[in-house]
Amino acid sequence: MKAYDGLYIDGAWRPAASTDTIEVVNPADERVIARVPAAGPGDVDTAVRAARAALPGWAATPPAERAARLAALRDALAARKDEIAETVTAELGSPLAFSQAVHAAVPIAVAGSYAELAAGHAFEEKVGNSTVLHEPVGVVGAITPWNYPLHQIVAKAAPALAAGCTVVLKPAENTPLTARLFAEAIHEVGLPAGVFNLVTGLGPVAGQALAEHPDVDLVSFTGSTAVGRRIGAVAGGAVKRVALELGGKSANVILPSADLAHAVHVGVANVMSNSGQTCSAWTRMLVHRDRYDEAVDLAAAAAAKYADRIGPLVSAAQRDRVRGHIEKGLAEGARLVAGGPESPRAQGYFVSPTVLADVTPEMTVAQEEIFGPVLSVLRYEDEEDALRIANGTVYGLAGAVWAGEEAEAVAFARRMDTGQVDINGGRFNPRAPFGGYKQSGVGRELGAHGLAEYLQTKSLQF
Ligand code: NAP
Ligand code: MG
Repeated sequence: MKAYDGLYIDGAWRPAASTDTIEVVNPADERVIARVPAAGPGDVDTAVRAARAALPGWAATPPAERAARLAALRDALAARKDEIAETVTAELGSPLAFSQAVHAAVPIAVAGSYAELAAGHAFEEKVGNSTVLHEPVGVVGAITPWNYPLHQIVAKAAPALAAGCTVVLKPAENTPLTARLFAEAIHEVGLPAGVFNLVTGLGPVAGQALAEHPDVDLVSFTGSTAVGRRIGAVAGGAVKRVALELGGKSANVILPSADLAHAVHVGVANVMSNSGQTCSAWTRMLVHRDRYDEAVDLAAAAAAKYADRIGPLVSAAQRDRVRGHIEKGLAEGARLVAGGPESPRAQGYFVSPTVLADVTPEMTVAQEEIFGPVLSVLRYEDEEDALRIANGTVYGLAGAVWAGEEAEAVAFARRMDTGQVDINGGRFNPRAPFGGYKQSGVGRELGAHGLAEYLQTKSLQF
């Protein structure tokens, strides 16, 4: 057990004023592995003041120099990739190979993409007799979840820093150690003091103080729709910019012409990866009635192969929520074909890879985000029915379409109310805009669109 007493504020690790602490638990064996400070409103205020004081200098730093700092940050993260992967595995529970391939590698790629974007971005443009300046929004309050702990930090901090903003980060209480590693990398790179600050703490205390702080210009939040709604209201009340990356209930639409076995295998892998704790996971598989039974058998067999491969959920609370969802699905008439609500192991917050068949669109498991290794398989009659089901939730974050011909899948994807669609298993692109339609959020992350979130325009007329 390691006890840390510092928050990273104004270029140094400083003892928190608050004496409260957070225990970090390894979800695979339920042991306490570390203790970190739980910042209070006073600590948040100190961090925001540091970010405010650093803003004029960082905003005036030439973009090329900001880009060079981000390239150094990418290198500092790359040098720590093993430590990052081991830390994510310890506090989130994901298998080490997944932590290496995704939790460590993706943020390194995203940091690199912002080093390049900052170097090449037009921070000034001509519009007729005007020169339009793209200036940093100001002090950013970033609030992140635990499911992709480093990715979600980098997806906010890298574009914010590239834009010339300064940052105060409140990471998830479950995964503060990964956030500390990020702050160490920032420190190593020698960013000016106060440009990036880390306050570990609880959402309703430190998170809320950050979102409500009058000197925060933009709140960027990723997490649940319930908390996002409150943060949006607070930001709206103060006329602050806000970016919200919220939940999802994405549809994996397998059209009749698709390679069914391939589509089902990739679809099951997508849901089981990170133990289903992925906001963009394709948790609803939509299959034509003529191929439904075959698809259910394939999905059940594919899910069973993950039984010994997936990690635990992040916490006992998440495990209990997910088990509750499975029980509710069964109570509402779904048919269990793999997994189930029972705990598969005596120790650790594990849930079995679960497949529910005969799920109908109005069931709770087809409407609410479960955030666990649970796939619902739904039956559709024809393409219009599939579209109605796919679009029939309050969410619109991601999705997938499979068809024999790409053009057929694209035609369907154009009619989906969602921010991302993978065509016949298209690969993740760290430069493509990521974000939600409908209640999945406001704003976009990643790539040039993610950078634009942290800029505001000023027009000079000549
Ligand atoms: P959450 O409560 O929304 O947490 C996200 C972040 O917001 C965390 O840093 C959290 O701090 C903070 N927070 C909580 N209450 C706050 C408040 N009143 N003001 C400001 N910040 C606040 O999500 P969660 O508890 O980690 O997970 C619950 C559910 O959210 C999941 O089951 C899943 O459905 C959804 N979720 C979605 C995503 C996504 O990527 N879209 C990610 C994670 C979770 P604490 O860590 O202290 O709570
Ligand atoms: Mg929470």
